[in-house]
Amino acid sequence: SYSSEEEYDYLFKVVLIGDSGVGKTNLMTRYTSNEFDLNSKTTIGVEFSSKTIKIDDKMIKLQMWDTAGQERYRAITSAYYKGAVGAVLVFDITKYQSFENCEKWIEEVRENAPPNITITLVGNKIDLGHIRSVSNEKASRFAKKFGLTFFETSALNSTNVEKAFFDHFTNIYQSSK
Ligand code: GDP
Repeated sequence: SYSSEEEYDYLFKVVLIGDSGVGKTNLMTRYTSNEFDLNSKTTIGVEFSSKTIKIDDKMIKLQMWDTAGQERYRAITSAYYKGAVGAVLVFDITKYQSFENCEKWIEEVRENAPPNITITLVGNKIDLGHIRSVSNEKASRFAKKFGLTFFETSALNSTNVEKAFFDHFTNIYQSSK
């Protein structure tokens, strides 16, 4: 039997993608449980987090998938993307390479995920603005070119985390209606 907290109108499977070390796990835990871990250790496998939110009076159960290190070994298979309605593509604003690799990640999503998947681009670690190597303008232009919404966040101090995810889920909701 289900408790009332487990009842929902929609189930959204969302995957977090992007290079290792950009902050995917911390963004997810910041969003789902408001926690941050400076010494988070990479585990191999897939980690899930759930949260139920309300949009338009509808209960939406989020099932968030985190690669937990597999991106290092390019071992992400189509099973990871199967049934996903959203992908949050994360780069680190202090690591130019992680931004450059975003185009490859988009290709991988396009090859493996359902065709109508919503992708949101997130430049994380905005609290490290003094060592930024990817300008907001450059990332915005990139996002525009690929038709993605773009946010800059900090999992460390929470800046824009709630906003970026809520916008992402609202876009999925709008396109699923
Ligand atoms: P993942 O490999 O993409 O899942 O990245 P993690 O979430 O494991 O984070 C990698 C490292 O970056 C860890 O040491 C985190 O503490 C750190 N980190 C994650 N997000 C932020 C952030 O917003 N700001 C700062 N300064 N560090 C962060």
